[in-house]
Amino acid sequence: MNNWKKLTSEERITRIQKALEENVNFMKDISLGYPASKLDSKVFNDDAPFLKDAPVLMTYLSNPNHIGCHTTGTSEVAFKGTQEIEKEVLGILAVDIFNVAENQFDGYIATGGTEANIQALWVYRNFFINTYNAKLSEIMIIASEDTHYSIAKGANLLSIEWMKVPVDFENRTILENEFETLLQKAITENKKYFIVVANMGTTMFGSVDNPDSYTNFLDKYNLAYKLHIDAAYGGFVYPFIAPKSNLDFKNKNVSSITIDAHKMLQAPYGSGIFLCRKNLIENVLTKEAEYVEGMDLTLCGSRSGANAVATWMILTTYGENGWFEKVKILQMRTDWICKQLDSLSIKYFREPYMNIVTIKAEHISADIAHKYDLVPQKHNVDNEWYKIVLMEHVEVDSLNHLIDDLKKNCVI
Ligand SMILES: *Cc1c(COP(=O)(O)O)cnc(C)c1O
Repeated sequence: MNNWKKLTSEERITRIQKALEENVNFMKDISLGYPASKLDSKVFNDDAPFLKDAPVLMTYLSNPNHIGCHTTGTSEVAFKGTQEIEKEVLGILAVDIFNVAENQFDGYIATGGTEANIQALWVYRNFFINTYNAKLSEIMIIASEDTHYSIAKGANLLSIEWMKVPVDFENRTILENEFETLLQKAITENKKYFIVVANMGTTMFGSVDNPDSYTNFLDKYNLAYKLHIDAAYGGFVYPFIAPKSNLDFKNKNVSSITIDAHKMLQAPYGSGIFLCRKNLIENVLTKEAEYVEGMDLTLCGSRSGANAVATWMILTTYGENGWFEKVKILQMRTDWICKQLDSLSIKYFREPYMNIVTIKAEHISADIAHKYDLVPQKHNVDNEWYKIVLMEHVEVDSLNHLIDDLKKNCVI
């Protein structure tokens, strides 16, 4: 435990330089077999003096390929230095934030939350096929109507049906009675194996699902299921301020989690993290991937090691306490805007431990939505909600302008 330390700038540079030295160096080492090299130096100047103090750019130029999964089996030795950095990132997330026991997880840095979610669906679909000889038509995905559309993509790609569970319009919680009815119907249609996706922060509302709303009924009917948590949005916010949560590995029902480092953590795009318990990811082994050293257990093939280094840099710049403080500031700003909206009697949804405020569309004119770039729930005439995401750059100053404009628009 406590893998997550804050490091000084020198410590970070030294660590990344060491990692790069442990990788193959295409400048010095004889390396004939890879369709890879550092970035083209005619285009990307690699002797600029500032690079020695810029570990992420240095990694970017050396262009390590993190193809495959490095938490189990063997891996491509050419990039073992930066693969180790990736493992440190995964360890911080899995152990320190999401409470799995040390070394009891697998995972990798995927292209994004979409890939990490599809990876989870793929692992469980194959788990049910490999373990129970399940037919595709017997497997079903369960997720709320507020779930990210990557689940719809995954359902389509993997040819499994999605039970879209309705939520309460005002508080966005799962409607349990309606779920039970849908489940009974699914059972009569011969569905036997269920892949449940619970959200730690939906994209539009930041609402957080209670996974028990699903699993209590699945247990009641004695059904086989696997539970995935989509924390792409909330994974770097909710666990830090919510007093307790049944959405991490302490909950024995949770088998895997998606967390996007390129949203709240502000890492470069291409940093979606997939984590799962041990002995699951092997269900998606691609035996044909023979030229890759070790096992290819991931949906994407080649992927950049620079994203792992960038994510590691952010995590070790803040440390656990520093990140907590940053999230607290976002929460304070969210509290602030909610108070202003209350005083104007403007209706909105807000999950108390998230930094998203979703305002009922009736309060927002087209001009205001356009001026402040508010995101609608639907890009058509029946849109009912607009959201504000309290990111680092969204300061009280700019929120104040919005509140002033809303005041002018209020019919008193
Ligand atoms: C953004 C998001 C995703 C998809 O992530 P990408 O990184 O854009 O692929 C999945 N789930 C939720 C809840 C998200 O907010």
